Amino acid sequence: MRIIFLSTPVGPLGSGVGGGVELTMRTLADGLMRRGHEVVVVAPRDSRLGTHRIVEVAGVLHVPSQTLDRTAPLVVPTDSVLVNMWNTVVELARSGQHDVVLNFAYDALPFVNASECAIPVAHLVSMGSLSDEMDRAVALAARSHAHAVAMHSRAQAATFGPTAAERVTIVASGVELSNYEFVAAPTDALAFVARISPEKGIRDAFAVAARTRRRLRVFGVMEDRKEWDAARAQNPHADVEHVGFLPTRELQAQLGTCAALIMVHRWVEAFGNVAIEALACGVPVITYDRGGPAEIVRDGATGFVVPADDVVAVAAAVERVDAIDRLRCRADVRERFSAESFAARVEEWLVARLA
Ligand code: UDP
Repeated sequence: MRIIFLSTPVGPLGSGVGGGVELTMRTLADGLMRRGHEVVVVAPRDSRLGTHRIVEVAGVLHVPSQTLDRTAPLVVPTDSVLVNMWNTVVELARSGQHDVVLNFAYDALPFVNASECAIPVAHLVSMGSLSDEMDRAVALAARSHAHAVAMHSRAQAATFGPTAAERVTIVASGVELSNYEFVAAPTDALAFVARISPEKGIRDAFAVAARTRRRLRVFGVMEDRKEWDAARAQNPHADVEHVGFLPTRELQAQLGTCAALIMVHRWVEAFGNVAIEALACGVPVITYDRGGPAEIVRDGATGFVVPADDVVAVAAAVERVDAIDRLRCRADVRERFSAESFAARVEEWLVARLA
């Protein structure tokens, strides 16, 4: 297949603003090419995606949906980068040199305008339900074709309601294992890998650090400084270090030395790429029972799944983390979430979309 990737409009690839979708696109572009497919990426200017060919498009970036109220209309800025990227995609599709568009943008536009495109559009939705307008767009696409929409986890699909969930293909996610080094003997430190924002639960992460008296190493973009300051004010004695946003190579090297990754998110996490990245390094994951991470972690074997919003339970699980076999964590990623298996699942879905 000759595939056009339509990128997220919230930031250039490589900036971290797009969150997990950036790694997803990288893993899939690599994996699909290894399976003999061609990939061209249409993305905002200054995007980087390994060595993949990028058609860079200028325009005003979009505000991420998770920062907006769910009843708010999705904002299309003047000279929108998404409108410009979509026009580029429609143009490319007309050339007759491509078979399918794989849309990664969490925005109604590619869903409702799919019929403008000369080739089929398949949508891989990267977040759970956040906006009424987006819900309608997803439902419309899901009704239009049995294989128009894929998502990362059953929990994510369920947030869009029973009808949408029934017609969605679940492809999970994957990582390139060779990019993650196994670390057998960690330090005592805990890791939190996420954008610093209310939905990712930075406040609870601080609370766990305070309770366990362990150092918390925070990796990710400082999206919401006020939230960080509030977390600090609530837990003045927590030993927390903001390392910043690191490229995968450096992130995995530091993440691997941690005793556990804690996932204390407030929203229904669609998947949680960071969970499989941690496991790939041999780092057990302690997660709230909410969204994708609870489908990834095997409770008691590759980490612990604890009741959502229960920081005391997270802290208690931290004390038991030495019982987890770190080699088993990595093996689980090899078995269930390799880049190869992810690309194969997406390939199967796209073939069904084109049938
Ligand atoms: N990430 C990174 N460097 C960092 C922190 C995070 O590259 O210092 C990446 C991480 O590898 C993951 C993404 O940011 O791919 C976060 O994705 P996730 O699916 O966990 O959450 P999202 O932000 O999409 O909700």
